[in-house]
Amino acid sequence: MKCIFCAIPSQTYILENTDFYVIPDKYPVSKGHSLIISKRHFEHYFELTDEEAASLLQITRELKASLDAEHQPTGYNLAMNCGRSAGQTVFHFHMHVIPRYK
Ligand code: 5GP
Ligand code: ZN
Repeated sequence: MKCIFCAIPSQTYILENTDFYVIPDKYPVSKGHSLIISKRHFEHYFELTDEEAASLLQITRELKASLDAEHQPTGYNLAMNCGRSAGQTVFHFHMHVIPRYK
């Protein structure tokens, strides 16, 4: 096991594709706050391959459709902290998908 995100059990995934899986954030800042996490261990956005970048867009769209249906948010924040000085605390690629409400 390299890190906590390498060790998340697949039974807890709420969505997945070839390159990524999605879980609810342990400390959600809003209803539906989710993390899109790479299946491959690497640190952040700037290390994505072109194929993974396309795959990330695909699963982001799927997750939005699912969150729209479940929670009807009125907006979203998509957030990535790249590097310790930017606030990253888990050094395995993840994107926060944070639904927002009026
Ligand atoms: P970062 O600060 O690296 O951008 O975000 C790390 C995120 O991972 C935080 O929002 C934190 O709540 C979440 N997190 C940390 N450990 C776990 C865990 O074991 N399970 C889940 N579901 N989320 C976690
Ligand atoms: Zn990892």
